[in-house]
Amino acid sequence: MGTWIYETDQAIYWMEAQYYLDKIVKTPVAAGGSEAVVVGIKRWFASDQPPGTMRIVRGAVTEPTAKPVVIPPASGIPSKPGTRWVASPNFNSRNGTPINTIVAHNTAATLSSTINTFQDPNAQVSAHYVVARTGEIVQMVKDSDRAWHAGDRVVNDQSIGIEHEATYDAKGLTPAQEKSSITLIKYLIAAYKIPLGNIKTHRNILRGATECPVLIWATDADFEQWKKTKLV
Ligand SMILES: [Zn+2]
Repeated sequence: MGTWIYETDQAIYWMEAQYYLDKIVKTPVAAGGSEAVVVGIKRWFASDQPPGTMRIVRGAVTEPTAKPVVIPPASGIPSKPGTRWVASPNFNSRNGTPINTIVAHNTAATLSSTINTFQDPNAQVSAHYVVARTGEIVQMVKDSDRAWHAGDRVVNDQSIGIEHEATYDAKGLTPAQEKSSITLIKYLIAAYKIPLGNIKTHRNILRGATECPVLIWATDADFEQWKKTKLV
């Protein structure tokens, strides 16, 4: 059905089918009512493909869902695997530090408990990705932002943290989880030109202070072997 406009009391949405491509939030004005700055959409109205429909909804409405962003593969870079976005407040800026490291972790908790912890501002911890035992990949911090996972300032500046869901009762990678982890890591390696030697375990970083990810890779020799057989 192409693209079209959807307007509610709160916002104007640029839609494609049931998803919105862009959302322009309305701001209340002193004289009453509200206004929205629709510069991008104005330009689009003047284009060759203006919207076919405009729907105005009043009263309580459900906000349409944003269209999932599909990142097309750049030449030679495998496409990014699908992720579920669950925002964590626990991040800050990399201040321009380039990404050159991946740190592998285990959650030592279930997926839902891990998500709760990473969503808790008091916990002061997060990771970019959590790879669930089902194979689902949850992204909680944007790659371009700095997550708080390594326990080391410099490493956090330059790394992507990947948690793997595991508990003391459910250790090791499930086949679906391993497939997702490999796809994700291969994508990150290609996207950020990360050398294999910079794919590390958390205990590589904090020698003696943590055993993480012992629930997935019992020893660093296991991890090195896994890298050699699965990522190359
Ligand atoms: Zn860890």
